[in-house]
Amino acid sequence: MIRRCPQHGFFRGEHCECGSAGQLLLDDTKTEQLGRLVAGGLRHFPGDLGLQMDSRGWVDLTRLGEVVAGRHRWANKELVMALVASDPKQRYEIQGEQVRARYGHSVDVVLDHPDNELSGLYYGASEEEADRIIEIGLKPASQRYVHLSTTPEKAWHVATFRTGNPIVIRVDAAAAQAAGVKMMTVNDDIILSEMIPSRFLSILSSKDIPRM
Ligand SMILES: [Zn+2]
Repeated sequence: MIRRCPQHGFFRGEHCECGSAGQLLLDDTKTEQLGRLVAGGLRHFPGDLGLQMDSRGWVDLTRLGEVVAGRHRWANKELVMALVASDPKQRYEIQGEQVRARYGHSVDVVLDHPDNELSGLYYGASEEEADRIIEIGLKPASQRYVHLSTTPEKAWHVATFRTGNPIVIRVDAAAAQAAGVKMMTVNDDIILSEMIPSRFLSILSSKDIPRM
């Protein structure tokens, strides 16, 4: 659910960090419905919803408010702003009168987040996938960019949702970027990258992955 604290603004869950219960804006069901619609519009099928997206993924916020109101009578632009501001994964961002997804696109966008400055990044894969990746490189599959993790533990954890016993691949991010591979920092957990040639990839020994 999304609530609003009079002092600290929008938040998820029962209580703001200050302890206030604030005011209820959206229950869990509506938060999920609005979240799915906004993700569809900003990541996957803007055109189907009647949204115009520019090359960097930006969409007009007022227009998105109209689109969500057209689908759900209770929805509006202010609730989109509440969804964005309270999102625990920082999926979206608002700049002036525009809004976009920060990662997770399947539509073709060219994002302009700050360049990544970490030297090593990580990707979790099944054993079968890992063999192929080491051979041909790491390419985005259903998404516009490859999503990399900032630590081996996080990469391992993310991959456990897809496979039983993940292999963690280390990306020599500094060398890849020096060779022209574009990598961008989204948040503390996620780095986006374009295709990474296999010469910058190596399999991390499982003893080097502290389990969470
Ligand atoms: Zn508060």
